[in-house]
Amino acid sequence: MDATVTVKEAQSVGPQTVAITMQSPPAFTAKPGQFLRVTATIDDEEYARFYTISSPDVEETIEITVGIDPSDAGPFSQYLADIESGSKLSIAGPFGQHYYEDSDRAVVLAGGPGIGPAVGIGDAAGAAGNEVAIVYVSETATPAHRPRLNALADAGNNVTIFTTASDSQSGIVPPEFDDAVADIITGASTEQTFVYGFEGFIEAATDALESASINPDEAKIENFG
Ligand SMILES: Cc1cc2nc3c(=O)[nH]c(=O)nc-3n(C[C@H](O)[C@H](O)[C@H](O)COP(=O)(O)OP(=O)(O)OC[C@H]3O[C@@H](n4cnc5c(N)ncnc54)[C@H](O)[C@@H]3O)c2cc1C
Repeated sequence: MDATVTVKEAQSVGPQTVAITMQSPPAFTAKPGQFLRVTATIDDEEYARFYTISSPDVEETIEITVGIDPSDAGPFSQYLADIESGSKLSIAGPFGQHYYEDSDRAVVLAGGPGIGPAVGIGDAAGAAGNEVAIVYVSETATPAHRPRLNALADAGNNVTIFTTASDSQSGIVPPEFDDAVADIITGASTEQTFVYGFEGFIEAATDALESASINPDEAKIENFG
């Protein structure tokens, strides 16, 4: 589906991270973890980038979570960082097969803005009465989406947060990451593992899955680039 939508709210949800809530087009359906192509004209030039849905559903509104790389922010994330409610965006989608399908237990490994689909899946799992476990490597000293992560932890879900906190370490995981992944993955048939983030994080998460004797081919992995 292609549509032009109105931004209802743009809210900082952590350092260098903004959650953008858009009006859902009529009859639009999508699952958390699927992504949209978002198009806008910036300084007379048209740009398109992909953003993953971070709301648990898209019935009234769609939320995406945008990370602004402190060391290497490009034109589109900078544009979205300053977008205001009432602005128009063109969207297409949803795309992707790496979305939540109501598994009894979801394990989400999230790097940087990969926290968007992590909280989207977490909230969808909570609404369905299912369990989620999240290992989140934040690129900033203060993690993003803290209230939603706290609520998931308060509901009894396992939430582990690491902060790399240094621009030069962007995408690199701390030494404790592999053990944290091994601790939360059970390998049960009712469990689905998801990985969301940029290339460096995807590589580290794939290594951690292999170290935990989990076949990465069975995980749903979305590489942000
Ligand atoms: C399937 C898919 C889903 C995506 N979902 C999201 C999402 O939910 N949220 C989101 O913020 N981005 C997501 N992205 C990335 C997004 O599409 C853009 O690439 C990103 O916002 C940078 O666009 P730009 O124009 O600002 O920078 P560009 O000029 O396009 O890129 C600048 C450089 O910075 C890198 N980069 C940008 N941000 C980061 C970061 N935080 N950490 C490490 N490297 C970074 C890019 O890979 C690139 O090398 C997704 C990409 C894909 C392919």
